[in-house]
Amino acid sequence: MYTKVKGTQDFLPEQAKKLTGLENYLRDIASLYGYSEIRVPILQNMEVIHRSSGESSDIVTKETFDFPDRGNRMLTLRPEGTAPVIRAVIENKLYTRPLPLKLFYMGDMFRYERPQKGRYREFNQFGVEVVGTNSPYIDAECIVMASTIFKSLRINNFKVRLNTLGDNESRTRYKEALKEYFKDKLDSLCNDCKNRYSTNPLRILDCKVDKDNEVLLNAPKISDYLSEESKKEFEVVKNYLDKLNVPYVVDLNLVRGLDYYTNTIFEFEIDGGGAGQSLTICAGGRYNDLVKMLDGPDLGCVGFAFGLERLSDIIDERVDYTHKVICQFVPMDDSARDYLIEIMQDVRISGISSDMYYEKSGLKVGFKAAENNKAKFIVIAGENEISNNQVTIKVKSDDNNRDNDIQETINKDMVAEYIIATFKSHRHKCETCDNSCDNCNR
Ligand code: ATP
Ligand code: MG
Repeated sequence: MYTKVKGTQDFLPEQAKKLTGLENYLRDIASLYGYSEIRVPILQNMEVIHRSSGESSDIVTKETFDFPDRGNRMLTLRPEGTAPVIRAVIENKLYTRPLPLKLFYMGDMFRYERPQKGRYREFNQFGVEVVGTNSPYIDAECIVMASTIFKSLRINNFKVRLNTLGDNESRTRYKEALKEYFKDKLDSLCNDCKNRYSTNPLRILDCKVDKDNEVLLNAPKISDYLSEESKKEFEVVKNYLDKLNVPYVVDLNLVRGLDYYTNTIFEFEIDGGGAGQSLTICAGGRYNDLVKMLDGPDLGCVGFAFGLERLSDIIDERVDYTHKVICQFVPMDDSARDYLIEIMQDVRISGISSDMYYEKSGLKVGFKAAENNKAKFIVIAGENEISNNQVTIKVKSDDNNRDNDIQETINKDMVAEYIIATFKSHRHKCETCDNSCDNCNR
């Protein structure tokens, strides 16, 4: 029997449906935050990946699929999206467009890892890259965006770990302090860390083997080496997250595995990696040096990425992230249908997803269609409504209890305004739960 390559997966129809649903959902959310899609090749010149990640990074030393093609060009199957996207930005001079560029991507990544649950050799990532901005507000917006995505998928048990690596000046001073500190402690570190000491001492802090080692936990902290500017920027990020109630913990030992990170960095973690372990589901940060490293102009960037398989594995089966119709139009008879068609067009133009069952008019079929579409609002019209230039609007209660549904008669031109106002007044602000309860995440 021929089998799939080690560490790869077949997506049979049921799994493919879940993955595609997730992809479509992510496309919608990305456009809500102002991102445009970019698609870059899976095949990249080896240098692009090796130079950007750093020759001594784990990815490059252990995980990349590198090979010569038949013309002896060294190629790499992309292990992540950032470097290929930035290469495309530079090669196509996208930075001459109005900045910042807000780009998102989705697709297969390849890493030669030991396959296990949530860890494959071919896997899918969704990621965003904002190019050409130094504003820490956008760092925070990225964290909020990822957090919104997870919450809307009803993943509530995540924790954001946050740190800053500071600007170049802060980082240089910090690296010196780390070198000084580890100088006479190398014997207590793993072999990889001994190498990291000379290549990039920051990476020692990211070591999975030594992560509970006292020597590592007691290492100097970046917070003592930050410039005033870096401190201020980090405050902006934290304040933004506080304002939007995104819970986070500052983890002064957090560094990222790649060479190009600067300033704000973050990871989203959930419990459930097995044996009380936590599992990282999303990671990102600012990388102000990468564009220069790849011979482009001096442009500040920030981004994040997460793996779709890991996400798909933990999404509650009941989560229905397929497209939902918000408003169902229900004509009581055929003349009401013509009346409602015009109103529905206005509501759709206002950006509210709407639908009508055309085959047959009447309350019974209309309500059935609303139920199938899981519509939150039902707009009904018959003779009475038409003669008064009105519609009847029904707001389905969140608790599925019909007694709590609201029904009102409103002017026919007010439907979109009514729906928007209702959503605003329903926005739940929880006093007690850090915005993680079921009510907060409807
Ligand atoms: P880890 O520490 O788990 O190895 P990482 O730091 O290598 O993760 P990143 O390079 O930051 O991960 O990639 C971001 C996200 O991509 C991860 O949080 C995870 O969701 C996903 N990911 C990374 N490697 C794999 C893999 N081999 N298989 C599936 N998903 C992966
Ligand atoms: Mg990894």
